[in-house]
Amino acid sequence: MESVARKFSVTINTAWCKGCGLCVAICPKSVLELNEHIKAEPVRMEDCIGCHQCDYSCPDLAITVTKEGSD
Ligand code: SF4
Ligand code: SF4
Repeated sequence: MESVARKFSVTINTAWCKGCGLCVAICPKSVLELNEHIKAEPVRMEDCIGCHQCDYSCPDLAITVTKEGSD
């Protein structure tokens, strides 16, 4: 049986994101960056390990991390 790679989805609510950069700083895999609009944006989604540090640390609850696919 093939093992299924874990894949995660990180969604930023840009209306709530104030561009503080906390999530960018805390992500252990450098998945997030601030874009030209000073909003957080996932740029290396394939590196995400689903640790939830970004969504737990966002003061504005602008990040949602979900697991994609099924086991
Ligand atoms: S921690 Fe939240 S408010 Fe700050 S940049 Fe990240 S998504 Fe935006
Ligand atoms: S869940 Fe973890 S690895 Fe994925 S973007 Fe957030 S902090 Fe980075």
